[in-house]
Amino acid sequence: MKSDLVIVYHRQPYEEVETPEGTVYRENASPNGIVPTLKGFLGKANRGAWVAWKEAEDTSNPGFEPVIEISDSFGTYDVSRLPLTKEHVKSFYHVTSKEAFWPILHGFKERYNYDPVDWPTFRHVNWAFAEAAAEQATDDAVIWVHDYNLWLVPAYLRQLKPNATICFFHHTPFPGPDMFNVLPWRNEIVESLLACDSVGFHIPRYAQNFAAVARSVTGARLIEEEDTPPALSATGVALNDRRVPLTLEYKGQAVAIHTSPVGVNYEHIESLAHSEDVRARVAEIRSDLGDCKLCLSVSRTDYTKGNIEQLEAFERLLQRRPELHGKVRLMLVSVGANRNMTAYAEVQERIESLVGRINGSYGSLEWQPVALISQAIPLAQLVAYYAAADFASITPLADGLNLVASEFCAARDAEHPGALILSEFAGCAVLLEGAIPVNPFSHASMDAALDQALAMEPEEAASRMQALQRSARTWDIGAWTEAEMAHFQKLRAARCPSVTPLPGTRPAA
Ligand code: UDP
Repeated sequence: MKSDLVIVYHRQPYEEVETPEGTVYRENASPNGIVPTLKGFLGKANRGAWVAWKEAEDTSNPGFEPVIEISDSFGTYDVSRLPLTKEHVKSFYHVTSKEAFWPILHGFKERYNYDPVDWPTFRHVNWAFAEAAAEQATDDAVIWVHDYNLWLVPAYLRQLKPNATICFFHHTPFPGPDMFNVLPWRNEIVESLLACDSVGFHIPRYAQNFAAVARSVTGARLIEEEDTPPALSATGVALNDRRVPLTLEYKGQAVAIHTSPVGVNYEHIESLAHSEDVRARVAEIRSDLGDCKLCLSVSRTDYTKGNIEQLEAFERLLQRRPELHGKVRLMLVSVGANRNMTAYAEVQERIESLVGRINGSYGSLEWQPVALISQAIPLAQLVAYYAAADFASITPLADGLNLVASEFCAARDAEHPGALILSEFAGCAVLLEGAIPVNPFSHASMDAALDQALAMEPEEAASRMQALQRSARTWDIGAWTEAEMAHFQKLRAARCPSVTPLPGTRPAA
């Protein structure tokens, strides 16, 4: 059966567990995060499908069913598993996407690695994804492609499904032409994105950057833009943009530029924070801390996340303010997702050596200034740390959005509001009003932010946290889902006026 909503995302939408009885497809443990968020859309179609890759030694004889039907709490939907060899995955994902695209998307030209890129393989894998998606889709389906590792899929899909509504969403930042045009494949990538009905971004700045890149590379014209809504331009943040682009014109076709930040499952985190278990754990953590203040930082180990800068700022704090010895701790959760890649291994080593230096220079048997955690912490436990900390410090050098900052706000209560130090270069900085903005490239700014958070009076913390929670709630996952579904509906009605609306977007009876 063909689907009227096809999600193309490289990861499979469940955890595949081998048991003595055979393979079990288990729902992801956490209902927060991008996979469960996207799965929420599947139940909003008459029939939904998901396209991902799965490793196979021999792609023509993969040893598994390419398409399976899954029934779980999200509904019944098809999952198409595109067989890819280990070499394909290494080339299209770990090399081309992570060594060439990722640094450019985040503004790190010096880390861009062109030499090992095998462009024909990238094309080949993207073509295979497009074919797998086209196989699942009705002729007038909405096909929703996610992230830069699938940049060429829209152009191929347009050949295979000329009447489909093709949408693309970027979960990363998108740079301006001076940075993006370093990519020698820029024409092919931008032409592919312009084959979409809509190209999506988290915040207006990334959307403006894309409009500028499209103009520079193809001559596409921006024909519609509007003022950025106040809820998307928090006071004085570097990533703000006063105008948000709406429509590009290219080769006589209109291409929508869609700005819509993904949110967190606010209610879920709030209810976890209120649960008995988490409350008990929070009391335990606070009692262990005594009169020591806890600064919490949570991210992946990645040069974009600013963990090294964060540790250096904490080291300076202990140098600058000896009266804080024994009175403040940093808990740095830095999860190493890509240990097999040199760039990430280097960052991990720097982090470990800095933590060792700080603890060795300042620590004692009773007081260890930095606790480094390199293993992922399950969400329920993480929420206890969010709720127990005195403040969070989220200081990426570049970050598409950053969900951790919003999760921290959702976990706080009025009795312990806490403060949030937030990099101006995290996408969510434009929507989270009330944070202490910080420029992670400036020592003075990082130092001042730590001092401000440590000295913040409870009244100020409470009023800032109220504003932060209001913003995080406004932009939560429900809001994103509604905005995306309404957008699909509008685009699909424009492309195929006679088509029946997706059920999730029908007005309530
Ligand atoms: N996370 C987690 N356990 C950890 C660290 C992170 O569950 O130990 C989750 C966190 O709750 C958040 C996600 O990982 O939902 C990280 O998302 P974010 O947008 O902040 O960063 P990304 O890794 O996507 O760049």
